Amino acid sequence: MTAPATPDINALARLAAQAQADLARIGETGTDWVPPAEGIDHNVVVVGAGQSGLSAAFGLRRAGIGRVNVVDAAPAGQEGIWRGPARMTILRTPKVPPGPELGLPSLSFQAWYEAAYGAEAYAALPTVPREIWADYVAWFRSASGVEVRNGVTLARVEPQEGRLRLHFTAEGKTFTETTRKLVLATGIAGAGGPFIPDVVANLPGHLYAHTHAFDPKALAGRRVAILGSAASAFDAAGALLEAGAGTVDLFSRGADLARGSAMKPFGFFGAWEHFHALPDADRWAVMAHFRRRASFPPPAAVKRAVAHANFRIHLDAGWRAATPHGEGVRITLNSGATLDADFILLGTGYQADARLYPPFADFAPAIARWSDKVAVDAADVALASAPYLGPAFELVEREPDAAPFLADIHFLAFSAMTSTGRPVGDIASLRHNIPRAVAAIGRDLFVADRAKHLARFLAPVGADDLPRDLYAGAIAAGDTLAAAE
Ligand SMILES: Cc1cc2nc3c(=O)[nH]c(=O)nc-3n(C[C@H](O)[C@H](O)[C@H](O)COP(=O)(O)OP(=O)(O)OC[C@H]3O[C@@H](n4cnc5c(N)ncnc54)[C@H](O)[C@@H]3O)c2cc1C
Repeated sequence: MTAPATPDINALARLAAQAQADLARIGETGTDWVPPAEGIDHNVVVVGAGQSGLSAAFGLRRAGIGRVNVVDAAPAGQEGIWRGPARMTILRTPKVPPGPELGLPSLSFQAWYEAAYGAEAYAALPTVPREIWADYVAWFRSASGVEVRNGVTLARVEPQEGRLRLHFTAEGKTFTETTRKLVLATGIAGAGGPFIPDVVANLPGHLYAHTHAFDPKALAGRRVAILGSAASAFDAAGALLEAGAGTVDLFSRGADLARGSAMKPFGFFGAWEHFHALPDADRWAVMAHFRRRASFPPPAAVKRAVAHANFRIHLDAGWRAATPHGEGVRITLNSGATLDADFILLGTGYQADARLYPPFADFAPAIARWSDKVAVDAADVALASAPYLGPAFELVEREPDAAPFLADIHFLAFSAMTSTGRPVGDIASLRHNIPRAVAAIGRDLFVADRAKHLARFLAPVGADDLPRDLYAGAIAAGDTLAAAE
């Protein structure tokens, strides 16, 4: 789906100015209250400038937390998934929920769309085209005033006394900076990366790719087999078929496609806001129940793929083996049936194990996982490798007092889902998650600076606030009152 018309640039500039005026009206001038910490470069570094990182930086500034620095590995305009791995034409999210604007109406999607294309166009918009959402997020970045250093990749987190030393790479060079707090808004591939199943372990790399990173145009005319039947698999099928793939065969383990969303019961305000407060056993029972059910592909994604005659769905068709065959690959199903293809695409989702995240290599074993907190059935081992996070998405120590610095790493990424019950980073998650993380970061910095704040509170009270001239003339002379008998 394409943009309905050319956006009204002047109206968008006016809206951006209105947003700044609105912030002043509600008293959020962003005045920095955090005392400078000698020898430390930043109060907070936010890694990732997708919608989560931008919203977090915006929220931190509104909360008066200064020296916040945002980096992203991607070039400007290419941050996040919307112009890359996400291949659907429309968002899966309805157009109603608020997003990164954190309660400021003039920075909302609706305000942006109405300014760009008109209120009638917004009213008539059934769903949000993906590229339109990407345009809005780019505008949000400039209108909110969040600055990003692009092309900068976090490679290593090195804990030091009272700070984290971050090792970055940019343009082939490595450099370090220090921060008190680290927010990882690194998205769905942010920990462990795409899940690559063992069945392709012996295939040469040029014969397969994950749906997270592939070029549909490069597969024009080819026979492609897709493993997986959730949303990303169908999105990839649609993109391949539209790019001219020869045939696309999609394989599902199940006897039918998943046709209901296990997430639906989570769709109320309280669940977004408070799921994290449930006891561990409850949260684990719910997440294991949820994860054992296949994720359903949205009807729009299915409709897009099945519109092509050269698309086939294979049910009850788990893979036993995938081996090189001629120029391509031979796939053997659990049933013994075979299919030859030129290329395999893995719609197999993502890993959530924070210990596999390369920047955490210095201290990975110290990070608590769900497997450290609950009894885990064999079927749930992958789920249990997710980090066990605190309420503000902070990493937690496996052994008490062994790695206290973990509390300064806030993991606002997909891997947090096991702890929060909802996908972290999704549009609808931002209004709930970002304020909680921002409040905790502010509290931690405030408490850590306790001595400085106490010195400030207990300093001698000055006499500048009330000029004595104002009342000096009215002061009664001592002899005007009758002396007490
Ligand atoms: C195919 C697909 C479709 C989706 N559809 C929807 C949808 O319709 N609605 C919805 O709400 N959600 C959807 N999601 C979930 C989606 O991931 C989130 O909504 C959204 O992308 C989360 O934004 P984010 O900022 O948290 O992460 P991302 O958008 O993934 O951004 C993460 C950023 O971190 C940067 N980064 C990562 N590692 C580093 C590093 N080491 N150093 C520097 N930078 C780094 C990346 O370059 C990237 O820019 C979809 C996900 C997928 C995969």
